[in-house]
Amino acid sequence: MINKALEDYTAEDLLILLNENVDAIVMVDTTDKKYRAITRKNIFVDLLDETGDYDDLIQKLWFHLDNSQEEITEDYKAFIAYYGEFKGKYSRRLKVFLEGNTAPYVIQMNVYPIEGTDKYVFAMDVLDDEEVVEDIMTTRKVNTIQNTYLFSMFVDLVKDSTSSISVTEISEDTIKSSIKYSQWRLMTVNMIWPDDQEQFLKLTDPEYLRANLDQGHTNTFDCMMKNLEGTYIWVKLIFSRVQTLSDKDFKFVFMVQDINDDVMERMATLKKYEELVLVDPLTGLFNHGGIKTEIQNAINIYQNGGDTISLMMIDLDNFKKINDNYGHSVGDATLKALADMLKSFAQDKHASVGRWGGEEFVTVLSGVSDDEALEYAEDLRKTVAAADFGEAGHITCSVGISQLGDDDSFDDLFNRMDKAMYSSKTAGRNRVTVL
Ligand code: GH3
Ligand code: MG
Ligand code: MG
Repeated sequence: MINKALEDYTAEDLLILLNENVDAIVMVDTTDKKYRAITRKNIFVDLLDETGDYDDLIQKLWFHLDNSQEEITEDYKAFIAYYGEFKGKYSRRLKVFLEGNTAPYVIQMNVYPIEGTDKYVFAMDVLDDEEVVEDIMTTRKVNTIQNTYLFSMFVDLVKDSTSSISVTEISEDTIKSSIKYSQWRLMTVNMIWPDDQEQFLKLTDPEYLRANLDQGHTNTFDCMMKNLEGTYIWVKLIFSRVQTLSDKDFKFVFMVQDINDDVMERMATLKKYEELVLVDPLTGLFNHGGIKTEIQNAINIYQNGGDTISLMMIDLDNFKKINDNYGHSVGDATLKALADMLKSFAQDKHASVGRWGGEEFVTVLSGVSDDEALEYAEDLRKTVAAADFGEAGHITCSVGISQLGDDDSFDDLFNRMDKAMYSSKTAGRNRVTVL
């Protein structure tokens, strides 16, 4: 270390001091896409090679996931080249991860363009002042939580140009270099969920935008798109046309908003409502509409070469008397107990059970022969007859079965089963009839 009176320091001394103190000084040539590390100290001994590929350097500094050294997905690497270009001096703090380390290093990066060339000088330092490091970590955290915008850019459709591009998760700084809008569309379409790609291309088509996006208006489109980790998430694509004085202008802001949590929540709610629509509240079985859909689906599967199906109607015998003798709530409890019995019978079998209405239930059995269906029904009938339904005591049921024929419609099959059930009733109840 040189120690002199202030007035004695020379320019050479300063160079020596800088060289001693700065952790890394790197020369970059953006034309050849190469870097050369003049000075490497501290973590830069591991992070940098003496010479290397410039894109690799940018990737190490910026293009890893914010919380780990893991690489971001391939599609986003198309932006790497644009992050490596600077107009004028540039300074920034970055998180960098070293192999085997889970905690990041915070580095200060200063970039000095060498005028009249495509070359830069990078001066980089590891910040080890705990307060500074903590400060940057918390700001970044706050940013990530608040920032639901993953991407934004400004587009001039007339010039086919983009500007102020920001891949927010990588950096809030905007990319200085401009990508042609037409080029950007083709880069981005690969990040869109395959089924949504056609729609994406339609909505981002310059002709379409000209015809459908008026000045001062906003169009949006929800779809799935890959995030930096390569996982598809729900996003809202937003096209907001800027109001300008000239009709000939066509400038808009394009943004991608992360709406994944919202969509997931909405889907869960929808699923709940969907269940309410299909499920009978008293018994928890499919309701009339639910089981009808199940039957229709099973018929479709059979007609497309799938398993055959047997339909079974179970009607309680003289159930009115239960209500008359013990009251409606005992009747309800009996229906619920019977439903549980039907459910446990259907378990482990390819069977769906629903309440057709009142004290009538339907079971759909897939992939069983006539004999197997009959055996299932007989077991069920005997179990019901032997069971103790508490206050209601013993009850019986009458069952009708029918197997789906090749040319059967839903009504053909259903009517045959219904007739079979009535045969059981007229023959004295507590029995099974196959038709
Ligand atoms: P059958 O042997 O001929 O089928 O005689 P049943 O009394 O069972 O037949 P019916 O169709 O005459 O009467 C069905 C009864 O089921 C009428 C009604 O009191 C009762 N029921 C229908 N839905 C419910 C319900 O949700 N709760 C209760 N407690 N009873 C119901
Ligand atoms: Mg009945
Ligand atoms: Mg009935």
